[in-house]
Amino acid sequence: MTDYEAVIGIETHVELMTDSKMFCGCPVDFGEAPNTTTCPVCLGLPGAMPVPNAEAMEGILKIGTALDCEVAEISYFHRKNYFYPDLPKNYQISQYDVPICHDGSIAIDVGGEPTRIGITRVHMEEDTGKSIHMGGGGRIHDAEYSLLDFNRSGVPLVEIVTEPDIRSAEQARAYGAELQRIVRTLGVSDARLEEGSMRFDANISVRPADDPVLGTRAEIKNVNSLRSLQRAVAFEIDRQIELIESGGTVVQETRHWNEETGKTTSMRSKEESEDYRYFQEPDLVPIEVSAEWRDAVMAALPELPAARRSRYQGLGVDARVAGVLVEADELGALFEEAMAAGGDPRLIGNWLSGEAVAWSRAENTAVGASPLSAQHLVDLAAMVADSTLSASAAKQVLGGVLGGEGSPAEVAEARDLVQISDSGVIEAAVDEVLVAHPDAVEGIRGGDMKPIGFLVGQVMRSTGGKADPKQVQQLIRDKTAG
Ligand code: ADP
Ligand code: MG
Ligand code: ZN
Repeated sequence: MTDYEAVIGIETHVELMTDSKMFCGCPVDFGEAPNTTTCPVCLGLPGAMPVPNAEAMEGILKIGTALDCEVAEISYFHRKNYFYPDLPKNYQISQYDVPICHDGSIAIDVGGEPTRIGITRVHMEEDTGKSIHMGGGGRIHDAEYSLLDFNRSGVPLVEIVTEPDIRSAEQARAYGAELQRIVRTLGVSDARLEEGSMRFDANISVRPADDPVLGTRAEIKNVNSLRSLQRAVAFEIDRQIELIESGGTVVQETRHWNEETGKTTSMRSKEESEDYRYFQEPDLVPIEVSAEWRDAVMAALPELPAARRSRYQGLGVDARVAGVLVEADELGALFEEAMAAGGDPRLIGNWLSGEAVAWSRAENTAVGASPLSAQHLVDLAAMVADSTLSASAAKQVLGGVLGGEGSPAEVAEARDLVQISDSGVIEAAVDEVLVAHPDAVEGIRGGDMKPIGFLVGQVMRSTGGKADPKQVQQLIRDKTAG
């Protein structure tokens, strides 16, 4: 059988959380009653004139700059003409041949294989209104009638288009997740997939692994979670390979992802850009971005997720742990605070991404809603450093702190987990174990060091985990030497 390679490019739409819409003063607010945040401009009434929103332009500049894009000194708005009931002007104002940002990239890492996904363009446009299909499961085919809400009409929308650089469903998901983190870090959008403030369209084709020519692609719409993105891409890759293997050909079309069936189905043949009769928007002047504006945006960028992860790794935190800390706001915040208070990065990072996450899942409670504070983490790490607690006892103490049993010192005391500092007690426990396991002792004396771990385990068990394992091991070595 031929070996196939999947080729994927993703188009992402992000709604900006600006005070007002892209070309009018209506508020951007989705909590309002239908058709109340509208005006002649966003309803497309004759004679109404658009005025670009500076805050939105700043937002797109932030996104483009964060994605390492070039910024065009001058870019233009075009009219993308098509008829649809949720588009009252019969055209969408968008950017066409000269977008404001282009040629950037996002770094992702799937399975320890770092890859850069090229960003072709980042352009500004406006959202449409919302059609709500009543009856027939909410899809247009079987609906009895449709309702229109124009509150969303004219909301600033940024489109981010990748090069066809993605090679697997996992990479597609990793790209989507990283883009979402970046947009959220910038604070320009809440980027919620379920609510549609971030939306993915995935373009997928397959080709024989050694073929330099791209295959025919299908574009998948209606992907509204990262999990769906991965599933939809995986399904589509398989579908196309099976189709080709059975003698068929992939047709260029738009397909709909069905979350319930886990399949994509044909929606419509793909429109070509000629179909849209693009022409320059005569009611708007070109957008000029001065070097000062561009530089000011760049200088004010917050620390981006990739930089933050590498900063954590620089502190000695594992790559995986750094990923978890950057992903979850509450864990990241606790970690930052604990670092500022001089806590041990490795230990605290491991606890937060390990025990705290496990506790949160088991208890179905956010770590942020538990009594655990950054100071608790710092204190707990100090108790490990000065051998008051063993590493495993510290994890138990952490569980107690998360569960509201008190401060680390209180939990350690109450649960009787403080390490035995009396060396006489430990020595007695070691002696007891050595007497109970003469074969192991014999083996060690004969040069087989393997039983040492076993003996340490026995002492730890008999002391209820309260002995310092390093000290125990040293004692066993001393006592079995010679
Ligand atoms: P359109 O004008 O139809 O939107 P674009 O050229 O803008 O098409 O490409 C849209 C997306 O599809 C981009 O992310 C691009 O990388 C991707 N793409 C283009 N051709 C292919 C292909 N053969 N296979 C997979 N993805 C593709
Ligand atoms: Mg496109
Ligand atoms: Zn308006």
